[in-house]
Amino acid sequence: MKAVAVFPHEREVRVTDESDPAMTSPDHVMIRMLDIGICGTDREICNFQYGVPPPGEEHLTIGHEAVGRVIEIGPGVERLAPGDVVVPSVRRPCMHPECLSCRTGHQDFCYTGDFSERGIKEAHGCMAERVVEHERYLNVVPPQLREFAVLTEPLSIAQKAMEQIFWSMQHRPPWLDRDVPPGERGRGLSALVLGVGPVGLLGAMTLVTSGFTTYVYSREQPPSPRTDVVAKIGATYLSSADLTFDQVGAQIGNVDLIYEAVGQSYFALAALTVLGTNGIYVLTGVPGLEDLVQSDPARIMREMVLKNQVLLGTVNAGAEAFGLSLDALSEFDRRWPTVVPTLIAGRFPPGQAPELVLKRPAGIKTVISFEGRD
Ligand code: BGC
Repeated sequence: MKAVAVFPHEREVRVTDESDPAMTSPDHVMIRMLDIGICGTDREICNFQYGVPPPGEEHLTIGHEAVGRVIEIGPGVERLAPGDVVVPSVRRPCMHPECLSCRTGHQDFCYTGDFSERGIKEAHGCMAERVVEHERYLNVVPPQLREFAVLTEPLSIAQKAMEQIFWSMQHRPPWLDRDVPPGERGRGLSALVLGVGPVGLLGAMTLVTSGFTTYVYSREQPPSPRTDVVAKIGATYLSSADLTFDQVGAQIGNVDLIYEAVGQSYFALAALTVLGTNGIYVLTGVPGLEDLVQSDPARIMREMVLKNQVLLGTVNAGAEAFGLSLDALSEFDRRWPTVVPTLIAGRFPPGQAPELVLKRPAGIKTVISFEGRD
């Protein structure tokens, strides 16, 4: 079968011919892949800055933002049937008995670092015609979401972050009421999203649907398909070509929340200066190799202490966040039926993946499609 893989030693990304994966466990599910999204992590892997092939192998099949259709199930599979559309999660647990996170199904909080991630670290990914996966790592997609289910994984990052933000808000003055409806949890508060790529836009949509007055700040100058999405979801776009961080802070007032989705350390650090009193700053970007920058750690520390600020890094997502992500996609589709389809820039055949994965994306989310629509 056809797959798309990176060969770090040969410094090459190419379409490969692999043998079909085998179903070796009763709870295994055979999936025919439909759509695979390309993201910044794939770009770093294909630039040989990140990612590790499975032990003893020379190559890594990429792809972790995946949607597929179940074509065969093992005798122990209980929830799934052939024909179901599914989205796999990315991270698989480490084997250490003492890792409380992995032992309780929360491998996104793994302590040891010995987890694997499909398409990223020590496990082949989903940019292949067929993939075999354990039932427990698969999330069922409602039929009406099939077209944009490829956004489930990048949205799961925002959903996990948001759950932690609300958890923190419930435990800090003025103690967010646990019973407040999800759409009102950000009422009266301002959020600033850094970055206007898919993770930033999906984060902005999550914040708007949570009731925050939402701003998005990035390099891009409007109009563009990305800044159009910001306007259409009721958020405000601010360009770094026009406004400095100080001016952004002055325009917004108290910035209660920052959601970073750029993965550039200097920009991320500079944004700390606009975080408001009692503000929560969420970092989601994983920077690649960057030049050293000068900063003023005393100022950062002084501000953080004097303003009761929280700095929260978050990576990956567990089963709960994938469920929330599918719910949120339904909500986005209900609220913005003409906007959600525009998040998919285009579907391209696997043969174009090696070239597309290295390019800066032209639209919002570039998708590799194995069999076109079905
Ligand atoms: C993926 C996460 C993964 C992270 C670090 C991101 O692109 O969405 O699932 O944990 O990279 O490898």
